[in-house]
This record gives sequence, structure tokens and C-alpha cells, in this order.
Amino acid sequence: MNILVINAGSSSLKFLMYNMVNEEVLASGRVERIGMDSAILSYEPAGRTEIREVAEILEHTTAIRKVLDILVHKEHGVLASSSDIDAVGHRVVHGGESFSSSVIVNEEVKREIKRLFDLAPLHNPAHMLGINAVELNMPDVPQVVVFDTAFHQTMPAKSYLYPIPLVLYRKHQVRRYGFHGTSHDYVSERAARFLGKPLVELKMVTCHIGNGASCAAILNGQSVDTSMGMTPLEGLMMGTRSGDIDPAIVPYVMGKEELTMNEVNSMLNKHSGLMAISGLSSDMREIQQSMAAGDGSAVLAFDMYEYRLRKYIGSYAAAMNGLDVLVFTAGVGENSSILRESVCRNLTFLGLELDEEANSQRAHGDRVISTVGSRVTVLVIPTNEELVIARDTYRLILARQKA
Ligand code: ADP
Repeated sequence: MNILVINAGSSSLKFLMYNMVNEEVLASGRVERIGMDSAILSYEPAGRTEIREVAEILEHTTAIRKVLDILVHKEHGVLASSSDIDAVGHRVVHGGESFSSSVIVNEEVKREIKRLFDLAPLHNPAHMLGINAVELNMPDVPQVVVFDTAFHQTMPAKSYLYPIPLVLYRKHQVRRYGFHGTSHDYVSERAARFLGKPLVELKMVTCHIGNGASCAAILNGQSVDTSMGMTPLEGLMMGTRSGDIDPAIVPYVMGKEELTMNEVNSMLNKHSGLMAISGLSSDMREIQQSMAAGDGSAVLAFDMYEYRLRKYIGSYAAAMNGLDVLVFTAGVGENSSILRESVCRNLTFLGLELDEEANSQRAHGDRVISTVGSRVTVLVIPTNEELVIARDTYRLILARQKA
């Protein structure tokens, strides 16, 4: 079965073509600057060089058509015909309380995703454009949606409610949802398998630390808490997002600086975090380079980032009354040995002991970075959200075919 995985944004669209017989990536690419006459299609068939094409791509339907054209291109294609695509899987950021797992798209599912536009105004409408564009280009191909929030739907009310008037939850769905669910789900399962232990017997904290960052408390295989909330702004300090702050800062700053709600929103989402404190960059590599060169602001940004992450890990150990496994994943988690070391150095009270040599090795793949005697096993597990989307799509379509 061949499955096309799509992550549609408002002006861009990423895609991966999988052959699910061996979970092989046949090709990948992206369309950028959708809506412009000089949009860019980048496409890389596995093992061959990347191709870039500039074209007028004014909306998502054309973008999908271009993707299909290149996938079946005589010279560069990886499929004989677009009818070789058996199903399409989409990433959808917000599934609200309606979706606790992936589903096959039908009219009702589309209505529900639309109903959730208010909760994810920057993301869900763009995903919908992607779903409709596929439908227009391939009306007979089934589509599946995989939600970033679904994995966290197991959180109990004491974690997902905010201590504010309950009427806001009942009327406007104001609650914590959590994000990066596909990643937390994937790395937790993989960690258990790697350790040869049943996931249902483990107390685990997974740290997905990329440009966006969140950690999750996973008790007996279920997410019981996570740091992102109603939106991805809550929780850890991130590249450009503040994470947790006193909410009273918002009206105070609006008054003092004469800012609009949109301006404050933009400040907290796009101009805070590592970027704001370092004054240099939101990119952890650049922060580390500047730290090495003795830049005090970069050191402070890094320290705050690490301190806030460590406090979350500690609080989740308290939430679960213990910790067996700590997992690092995503761009920073997988690559920054300095960050991992700084976090683990001050978690020894949990019986955690880092193997400094294993941690500093530049390795790929799943690996243990704690000592044999450590009471908490620390792992680095590269995430693969696209593979989760492909697998869920495969599983659901196969089940429907059998039914
Ligand atoms: P996204 O959330 O956009 O998917 P990624 O998971 O790719 O992001 O993570 C991007 C982050 O990972 C950036 O801050 C980048 O600096 C960081 N990163 C990537 N490689 C390294 C590295 N070798 N050392 C430190 N940080 C890294």
C-alpha cells in the first residue's frame, strides 16, 4: 500500500510518499509560498538529488496537483500513476475533545474539524485546505486525519482543567489539550520496546524539544499530563514562545505599551523564548555557539530554557510518584548533548545518573545515555511523526478493507 502523508500549512505543504510494505520513504518534498506566482516545489526522490521548481501556485488544489505530477513524472517520479496512491494521511493540529484517535475522513469529520477552527485558527483551516485539495484531485482516494491532540485525551480532569470559572470550559471549551501527541506516543512506545519492558508498567517523561517544545507525563502508557495547554503557548520556554508566564502580564503590558491583543499574542508566540532573552536567535545551535564564545545573554537564555524544562520533569515525577524512563527527542532533544547534560546533572535526587560519554557521542538512532546503575533510564529516541501518520492511515484503511 502506498500512502501519501501531508502536513498542510496556510502557505506551505510538506509531503512524504511511503510504501508501507517495508515502511520505505519513496520521496519527500514541500511546496512553499502557496498563493504566489513564484511558489517553490522542492522534491527529493529517495537516494536521488533534490529538484526545485518555481511555478505559479495560487492555492492548495494546484499545489497537490503539482505534487501528484512530480510523483508520477517520467524521469523523476516514483510511481507509475497517481492511481498507485492508496490513501492520504494528514496531520491535523487540533482535534479538540472530539477525537481521541485518528479517523477516516468523511463529511462529519470535516464538519467537526471546521467546528474546531476557533481553537486552532492558524492551523486547522490550513489542514482543511489540504484535505479539500486532495479530494478535488483524487476524489476516490480515502483520507485519514491524525491529530496532535489525540494522544493527550487520556489526561484526567485535574490536569486538563484550568482553575478558572467552569462556565468557560462548558461554553467555549477552554481547557488544556496538549500537542505533539503523535511524537510523545511514538517515542514512548519505542522507548518501551527498546528497553524490552511493557509500556503499561512504566512511569515515563517524554521531552519533545524542537522549535516548539513540550513534555508529557506518561503513566502506564497513557498521557496524564503535558506542558502545552489550550494552545501551544503554555509550558516550556521555546525558540520564540514564552511558555508559562503570569497571565496578568498581558493586560499590564497592553496598558503600558499600548499594544493590541494581536500584538501581545504575536510578542508571546513569535518574539519571546530563546530569541527574546538571547537577543540573537531562536536556534539552539546558534545559542550554543554564542555561549562557547562567552556571550552572557546566550548563557542566560540557555540556563532559563534548561531550568524550566528540568522543573517540568521534576513536577511530572511528583505527579506520577516516580520516574522510570526519561526520553529526549526532536531537534534539540536529539542533538544537544549539552542541554541533556545540564538537565540530568541536577536530577540526581531521582537516582538518575547520566553516562557522560554515551551522552556526548554523536550517534544516530535510539540509545541509552544513563549509566547501568541509574534508577532512571535516560534515552534519546529520534521522533518520526510522519511515520505515525502513515501507520495510522495504513491501519485504518486496511481495517476498512477487511470490514
Ligand atoms: P520543529 O519544531 O520545527 O520540527 P526541530 O525538531 O527540527 O523543530 O528542532 C529544531 C531545533 O533543533 C532548532 O532550535 C535547532 O537549533 C535545534 N537543533 C538541531 N540540531 C542541533 C544540534 N546539533 N545541536 C543543538 N540544537 C540543534
